[in-house]
Amino acid sequence: FDMFFLAFVERLFRPTFKKDDFVLGKKLGEGAFGVVYRASLTKKPSSKVPYQKEGDLVLKKATEYGAVEIWMNERVRRACANSCADFVHGFLENSSKKGAEYWLIWRYEGEATLYDLMQSKEFPYNVGFSIVDVVETMIVKEVQEDLPRGPERENRIIQTIMRQLLFALDGLHSTGIVHRDIKPQNIIFSEGSRTFKIIDLGAAADLRVGINYIPKEFLLDPRYAAPEQYIMSTQTPSAPSAPVATALSPVLWQMNLPDRFDIYSTGLIFLQMAFSGLRSDSALIQFNRQLKRCDYDLNAWRKSVEPRASSDLRKGFELLDLDGGIGWELLTSMVRYKAGQRISAKGALANPYFDREGLLVLSLMQ
Ligand code: ADP
Ligand code: MG
Repeated sequence: FDMFFLAFVERLFRPTFKKDDFVLGKKLGEGAFGVVYRASLTKKPSSKVPYQKEGDLVLKKATEYGAVEIWMNERVRRACANSCADFVHGFLENSSKKGAEYWLIWRYEGEATLYDLMQSKEFPYNVGFSIVDVVETMIVKEVQEDLPRGPERENRIIQTIMRQLLFALDGLHSTGIVHRDIKPQNIIFSEGSRTFKIIDLGAAADLRVGINYIPKEFLLDPRYAAPEQYIMSTQTPSAPSAPVATALSPVLWQMNLPDRFDIYSTGLIFLQMAFSGLRSDSALIQFNRQLKRCDYDLNAWRKSVEPRASSDLRKGFELLDLDGGIGWELLTSMVRYKAGQRISAKGALANPYFDREGLLVLSLMQ
């Protein structure tokens, strides 16, 4: 009850918008279930309303699945706002000829997704973390600038990205939300906070209130999907016309550890960041085939490729082997066949891989 009451009060005091309040700009993306545009407010609805600069917003016109996406974004805003792009408003727009359309509006966070950044030869040096960021990142930054380019410096940047990503994911998971479409294209670099945030809750499931709907299994991106991709869908109710609360399902959560689905995808992103040769789609697909042949055992995969490894692969292993191999250790605890054997987001954050700044501060103070 509390949750719904708070949601109601919050909605009363938040500015609402309608179709005519927006002008569309450049198209940013188009999927099977929606089109995304950069957008601006047409006029000042009230002086208290933020986002008044041109191009301040992002607008998604979604099909019927937009209802679930609005629900997810509302929950995120109340429970773990920093995990995802700032959600402004969502509503049903009926006037279009195509029938019902859901409109979702977010703050425009910035021009680059992790995917865009990873496509550049400069990655990870092209990631501009701020010096006025959290203290940990600040220390990383100072050290980074003293370090020559090479595995050590790259490792520090990748570590910072992984920490931010896992932190955002832990927020979602603690709220009871599984994203199910974690991939570099759905991670945006927020130019305001200079941190990475998660976007695109279009395939997410809210297990605490039973909104557990995958439109179609094939919606899940096969490149980043964990091997149990079909497990949850067998319990999936048919498409709700609007988000409906069904039975509480923490039991489901316990049974399948569905959050570990996201961990597998995050592990693949970690892998792609470490191995420049695995960043392209075709290389990832080939890697997935190799890993499957090794029964999803990363150590077996390593044994099979290391003897005749290209310099790209060797550099990746070198990076993950730093500090006694804690990076490799973390990677192998994320990318495992059995969901139950994968580390949780919280568990990963407590991994020694992320303690290095702490160790560093200590060593600087001595
Ligand atoms: P789709 O269902 O098409 O994948 P997304 O929500 O992932 O929709 O958005 C598509 C693209 O639009 C993203 O990959 C990103 O480039 C851009 N985008 C989405 N949300 C934002 C945002 N809040 N700020 C900036 N760019 C965004
Ligand atoms: Mg997307």
